[in-house]
Amino acid sequence: MLDTFTLFPTEGPPPVGPLRVPSVLHLIGNTPLLEITQLSTDIPPGVRVYAKLEGFNPGGSVKDRPALCMLQKGIENGALTPDKIILDSTSGNTGIALALIGAVLGYPVELCIPANVSIERKKIISAYGAKMIFSSPMDGSDGALELCRERLQEQPERYFKPDQYFNPHNSLAHYQTTGPELWWQTKEQITHFVAGMGTGGTLMGTGRYLKEKNSDIQIVGVEPDDAFHGLEGLKHMDSSIVPGIYHEEQLDRKISVSTEDAYETVYRLGREEGVLVGQSSGAAMWAALQVAREIDRGTVVTLFPDFGDKYLSTNLWIGWKEYNQRQANARVEGTA
Ligand code: PMP
Repeated sequence: MLDTFTLFPTEGPPPVGPLRVPSVLHLIGNTPLLEITQLSTDIPPGVRVYAKLEGFNPGGSVKDRPALCMLQKGIENGALTPDKIILDSTSGNTGIALALIGAVLGYPVELCIPANVSIERKKIISAYGAKMIFSSPMDGSDGALELCRERLQEQPERYFKPDQYFNPHNSLAHYQTTGPELWWQTKEQITHFVAGMGTGGTLMGTGRYLKEKNSDIQIVGVEPDDAFHGLEGLKHMDSSIVPGIYHEEQLDRKISVSTEDAYETVYRLGREEGVLVGQSSGAAMWAALQVAREIDRGTVVTLFPDFGDKYLSTNLWIGWKEYNQRQANARVEGTA
């Protein structure tokens, strides 16, 4: 299956709109770049702001790219053989991506997950036929990690663990795809790339590609301003185990964003741009606008890792209702 297609073009423009594809995997990547026009009205006229909409990937997030690359490389180098089970400890977008790709390629997938992850996620993962092994909700993602490690130690020969935090093929996916796509989509005009950091794969891989094309391009990392945050998918690096693929020295700058500012930006993106995204996209947008306000000319590009429909049972949605109420009140009072 895998050798029947070339997943990503590494040179030249990506193919135009896939009209017919032999598998859903061929729909990974080549996502649209949206110009942000309503939220950017207070930035200088010489500055343009764009967002890459990764929710258009078939698994609904940016993580389809590294998941496919890690599995593909695993097959190529002989670590992922047909008798193996794909095992990891992620309830997030990577888990969904592994479940989807495992389904297409015919590999069983097992995910160690804290029992309290959102109901949407459990349903999506089940829909792709992956098995979930629940860890105690009290132990958070570290509990899931530990459970996964125990299973692996018991029978290492049974499993293939992609290990996105340490696997260089995570950032390689972005070096080979996200970077070239942005270079082409901005007609080589990109001056700043602003993106959130979870594993750091998006920022490291895309950043490395763009710097090779033009070393003046600024690579800006976005992180929560606090260890206890509500920005699913992002890591507060100073208080976390630093991912092996993350190299802070390759960044030009880091911007911290509060959960409140990120949520508010998500609500504005929905109401003003018609784009319903997750909370990490709100953080990325907030930081990109900050960068855009500081310069006179340039093309600032950010990346929205996923859409917002997966978060409708979370605190993000609770805040949404309050925001809508505030907007309605302001309209009645004539202050909107
Ligand atoms: N936002 C969301 C919603 C994510 O799932 C992730 C991946 N953890 C990120 C941002 C960060 O991406 P990366 O792992 O490439 O740094």
